[in-house]
Amino acid sequence: MASNAIDNVYNDLLKAIGENRVSNDPVEIGLHIVDASSYYFDLDTHEYRNYILVKPSNEREVVETVRTALKYRIPIIPQGSSTSLAMGSGVIYLDELLQYRALRSAIIVNLSKMNKIVDIRPTDRIAEVEPGVRIDDLNTKLKSYSLFFPIDPASARVASVGGAISTGAGGLRGARFGTMRDWVLAIRFVDGLGRVHSVGCYTIKCRQGLDLARLFVGSEGVLGIVTRAVLKLWPAPRHVYRFLMFFHDFLDAYRTFIDIRSRRQPLVAEYVEDRIVKMISGSLGLKLPYAHMLLIDIELNLLDEKAHIYKTVYEEAKKHGVIEIRSSLNDEEDFEKLYMIRRSMFPSILRMKRKPHLIAEDTVVPVSKIPEFVERVKAIEKEHGEDVLLGGHLGDGNLHPHVECDLNDPEDRRKAMDIAAKIAVSALKLMGSVSAEHGIGSLKLDLLIKELKFKNSIHSLDLMKGIKKVFDPYNILNPGRVIPPD
Ligand SMILES: Cc1cc2nc3c(=O)[nH]c(=O)nc-3n(C[C@H](O)[C@H](O)[C@H](O)COP(=O)(O)OP(=O)(O)OC[C@H]3O[C@@H](n4cnc5c(N)ncnc54)[C@H](O)[C@@H]3O)c2cc1C
Repeated sequence: MASNAIDNVYNDLLKAIGENRVSNDPVEIGLHIVDASSYYFDLDTHEYRNYILVKPSNEREVVETVRTALKYRIPIIPQGSSTSLAMGSGVIYLDELLQYRALRSAIIVNLSKMNKIVDIRPTDRIAEVEPGVRIDDLNTKLKSYSLFFPIDPASARVASVGGAISTGAGGLRGARFGTMRDWVLAIRFVDGLGRVHSVGCYTIKCRQGLDLARLFVGSEGVLGIVTRAVLKLWPAPRHVYRFLMFFHDFLDAYRTFIDIRSRRQPLVAEYVEDRIVKMISGSLGLKLPYAHMLLIDIELNLLDEKAHIYKTVYEEAKKHGVIEIRSSLNDEEDFEKLYMIRRSMFPSILRMKRKPHLIAEDTVVPVSKIPEFVERVKAIEKEHGEDVLLGGHLGDGNLHPHVECDLNDPEDRRKAMDIAAKIAVSALKLMGSVSAEHGIGSLKLDLLIKELKFKNSIHSLDLMKGIKKVFDPYNILNPGRVIPPD
């Protein structure tokens, strides 16, 4: 877009929603143009001139922004807290030739100012919130109601409800509570023509024609901009016993989890392999054994179950050669410390990695297939002579493979993509999928195509493209994400 055209967009937005909400300041723009998956891209500051940042404070301002974008046919990138791991909420994208590029121009619509918790209805167990509310902030507020919102991506301290809805986020409690798909009752959104829609209901049961609220979950900003959401809540677990265990190998950790699960469904079941544990020790300055880590949370029905649960977990873990067990019960500090060790997985890999970049894959397989999946990943690792670090949500089969690479080196980049593709095919062959919770963004478009081809369903793309056209006929909303371009 020519510089005078972007100036016209800016001036129109100023008139429509005021200077407090619109910025073309390079410093402010610089803070919003990349997401967590593209943070390492260095755009020249003169390129910041191609972007405008809007921080709406209400739905009307979102509508005005979409109308302005329509007038000039300029892309809009909806953005929450930009923790996307799929190149979904910044201006950088991966093209069909697997080259990294920046959108030529765009309006970044950052929803962080729309952060009101509008209503909490304890009897109905629902909360109505604006999209910029952070998940942890919602849970802090819910404490006084003895309720909680169970979806907890490891990024929950900053991740927004709008972003979590749009990626269909999951998290550490996925084994017990699933993903956002199971917890969103209703959504208000602005479509690509600037029309406001209200879909879904305030009740658990509701039929409203086709289920557009569900369709919206996981749509990554390509169908509309979420301005409100009604979320289901759940009674907060009162007593949770947390165990951190270390084993000599993956299979011991896996079998311990399966045996514990056969007696009591854990709230959380997370695995981190030994090489990552070493990175966490180094990055947090902790003395953890160089071993495979299993984190298990178990809800106690009665506090006096504590001794019984401890005995059960201890016996199962001992049977599988546990090296060390740490545990906590209602000691808030210890409880959080153990969680922090797991939550530090991704930041620790980023800090301790040897190559400049990191690709975090998001494959998922049925729980029964996890050992076979791990074996196949090890074989791919051996074949390529590159580390593939595994860690994540054991409880729902979503172990994230992490591949280090140098994206500026074409040879290394191709190798990393090749490894990612082979891992994806392994997951597909084991009845799994290429993406569980991070979304497709632009980073995984080629893997999405692989999956649809594998399932003999490539023609399903026609349905997706048709739906996109109905919601956003001029393709201004997050173009090039989730749905491959023609
Ligand atoms: C350290 C780390 C750990 C993570 N752990 C997990 C995990 O355990 N589980 C998990 O599922 N994810 C995880 N993620 C990925 C990410 O944090 C989640 O997907 C999160 O829900 C995204 O929220 P966000 O507000 O940052 O969204 P953003 O990154 O801002 O946006 C994500 C997508 O949603 C769209 N979007 C944002 N807001 C709106 C809106 N209001 N309307 C329409 N579209 C919108 C964007 O365009 C983009 O496509 C992790 C990320 C990091 C960096």
